[in-house]
Amino acid sequence: MNYYSLNHKAPNVSFQDAVIKGIAPDRGLYFPENIQPLPDEFFKNIDDYSYNEIAYQLIKQFVGDEIPKKELKNIITDTLSFDFPLVEIEKDVFSLELFHGPTMAFKDVGARFMARCLSYFNKDNNNKLTVLVATSGDTGGAVASGFLGVKGVNVVILYPSKKVSDVQEKQLTTLGQNIKALEVKGTFDDCQDMVKTAFLDSEITDKMQLTSANSINVARWLPQMFYFAFAYKQLKNKQKDLIFSVPSGNFGNICAGMMAQKLGLPVTQFIASTNINRVVPNYMESGNYKPIKSFQTISNAMDVGDPSNFIRIQNIYNNDFEELKKHLSSYSFSDDETREAMEIIFRENNYTTDPHGAVGYLGLKRFLNKKGNMQGIFLETAHPVKFLDVVEPVIGESIEFPKQIKEIINKTKEATLISKYVELKQFLID
Ligand SMILES: *Cc1c(COP(=O)(O)O)cnc(C)c1O
Repeated sequence: MNYYSLNHKAPNVSFQDAVIKGIAPDRGLYFPENIQPLPDEFFKNIDDYSYNEIAYQLIKQFVGDEIPKKELKNIITDTLSFDFPLVEIEKDVFSLELFHGPTMAFKDVGARFMARCLSYFNKDNNNKLTVLVATSGDTGGAVASGFLGVKGVNVVILYPSKKVSDVQEKQLTTLGQNIKALEVKGTFDDCQDMVKTAFLDSEITDKMQLTSANSINVARWLPQMFYFAFAYKQLKNKQKDLIFSVPSGNFGNICAGMMAQKLGLPVTQFIASTNINRVVPNYMESGNYKPIKSFQTISNAMDVGDPSNFIRIQNIYNNDFEELKKHLSSYSFSDDETREAMEIIFRENNYTTDPHGAVGYLGLKRFLNKKGNMQGIFLETAHPVKFLDVVEPVIGESIEFPKQIKEIINKTKEATLISKYVELKQFLID
């Protein structure tokens, strides 16, 4: 499969090159040249397929023959080493729990898949790759864990100082080996800007092969299609209209869901639920896309002022705003509304959500209340324990640490504090 740049000023590349480069030389995101829907039979008979087979069917056209079938199946099996339960928390409202992986956030899936693809592509190469990634919280941990010990790859993670939770910080600063953390005095957008600048800085790229592991990388983005189909497989009633609400920041996750829909997954509507960083809700109202400077919220993995994947979503609908509106609705919620939702869900359904999942729940309810007689799934994108300081006061109970967290919480943080781009550059070159 070939990929083209959405800025249309760079050559088309193979899957392998798209994965290694991350972003095209013209700063555009890569997008597959064509998308072939799967036969209707596949989704009709989804109960007959295992999770690994579903994943293989969804991803194979995007990889093509660049990874042999057997190898790709191994990568999928390795990636999907945990569960994706769908839990009905009230009638026709389901939580898709994407937090059962090693760092307890959905990003484990994309990060594990990408690490294994890169490792496969780099197997005969003596030059080390450097994965450079900015994180608003969960990306860093998932990438660190996904790439830990992977041969031929160094990982450098930038995160905004004091704007990630304790658990998140531990997950990205305590692993050691090939993983290095840079603590940036600034916001996530500052981190993301530094990373983007480094990719275009020939004094760096002449010396080393840099690659991204944000959801701009196709190998992180596309495997996120899998669990939308896993959720569908678990639904008892597949006839009723299905809505997905996805708590969104950089819009990679929801964009993967929309790709799954493109392949034929029967979804009636997607809801992009955001916190007050409401660039996309504003766009869906006005047709006018205006990036903002991001605000800090309790759902910090979504504090994004210029969602990088939104351009892919527009592309899926041929940049046709009216067509996009038929498939996507978008709502924004404040921290107070989010806390209130977490409290109500806990009190009435005895279910604990994290702040991101709660935003997803709110978006889903707003849509269902208007439309009625549909069923909806919100993505519970992280385990509540990752946001202890927010969740515990709201539900008035303490949350027990799962074993993944117990293993890291008492380890010592190792990070280098930086505030300017030149410091990042120095760090990479040294
Ligand atoms: C990254 C993240 C999001 C946002 O996902 P995008 O793909 O960037 O839209 C939502 N919730 C959690 C917990 C996250 O870590």
